[in-house]
Amino acid sequence: MKKIGLLGGMSWESTVSYYRIINEEVRRILGEFHSAEIILYSVDFQAIEQLQRTGRWEETADILASAAAALERAGADFLVLCTNTMHRVAPQVEEAVRMPLLHIADATAGRVLERGFVRAGLLGTRFTMQQDFYKGRLNEKHGLSVITPGSRDQQTVHDVIYDELCRGVVRTESRAEYRRILRALADEGAQCVILGCTEISLLVHPEDCPVPLFDTAEIHAKQAAAAALEVELPGSAEAGAGQAGIQRASKTTDSLRPPDQR
Ligand code: GLU
Repeated sequence: MKKIGLLGGMSWESTVSYYRIINEEVRRILGEFHSAEIILYSVDFQAIEQLQRTGRWEETADILASAAAALERAGADFLVLCTNTMHRVAPQVEEAVRMPLLHIADATAGRVLERGFVRAGLLGTRFTMQQDFYKGRLNEKHGLSVITPGSRDQQTVHDVIYDELCRGVVRTESRAEYRRILRALADEGAQCVILGCTEISLLVHPEDCPVPLFDTAEIHAKQAAAAALEVELPGSAEAGAGQAGIQRASKTTDSLRPPDQR
């Protein structure tokens, strides 16, 4: 079994879900008392959030790159960044390590494409809904067309993530707002909706949406378990995710070779 390097704490509320889902998946596949080999580096989210808010992404990249390097030194075989938003600095993080990164957008696109959907709604932080690192990857690499809410609804979605979900607060009123926004995305032609923030599944569930939901935290965590066990999940091959996909998606094909052969 490969050792999973989990870079979490963004927020820790969602990292808890990753830890549980990965272990449940390993037990489901291997049975008995099997559980995942995980090395966790959980950051202090306060610092990251302040840097995000002021657009100092290079500084967030430095923090995550040094955390990733620490995971690699501790023996991690591949890296899982437990947040959609911070994939904005995925290239800089990949640069800092030799191990491959299992990209959350690739894992998610695999599941969406496998169900035959080509037009997906996207909810996430303002950064994820507006900037190209995520939408662009879904579109250019995977051919998905992505629909985001209007600007006022984007603000609502973003504020609920930071003011409530990342602080462990789940409010019925916010669920009602998210339901309305999910319905609007479906009315606009979204065949499904990607929950592109790892905390959103704490608030909404399949019954809250008229079209299928794709929870990035669950998808990413299950893909991590599959990669650790070197089994292929359906849909991972098309998307360049999963075990084989880690090799394809990595910055260099050298990533999975033992260090002495690189
Ligand atoms: N976990 C969230 C995400 O998936 C938002 C918090 C963060 O900025 O990392 O985007």
